[in-house]
Amino acid sequence: MTKESINKKLREAALNTSTKAYAPYSHFHIGSAVLMESGKIFSGCNVENASYGATICAERVAILKAISEGETKIKKIYVYSKDGWPPCGLCRQVICEFAADDLEVILGDQEGNEKNIPFKDLFPAGFTPDKLK
Ligand code: ZN
Repeated sequence: MTKESINKKLREAALNTSTKAYAPYSHFHIGSAVLMESGKIFSGCNVENASYGATICAERVAILKAISEGETKIKKIYVYSKDGWPPCGLCRQVICEFAADDLEVILGDQEGNEKNIPFKDLFPAGFTPDKLK
């Protein structure tokens, strides 16, 4: 599969999942899709909560779905939002835990624009699992 077709699949998964977002408070519908080292793709949407702190972002939903299926290395992550927002700090830390060395983050917006950012540039001094060894 070509890089372009993988990115297209990730965008479709993220965009489709964004329509399932539970966002009665912010009304921001976010979708994310992760490509794992095995080649499997998992997607997630944001799930808000009346107790705002219990809200979980689309990126973490996608990652937790992958982890719950035994996948632990993220090769690519696509984040879809209306304006192409990047992952929040909390999501960056969770991504960091499972990031492949060459993890690429793709930010897509509703116009079809995409920005590709190496995860290392997005989160340069992350707290990685090896710090605890
Ligand atoms: Zn987040």
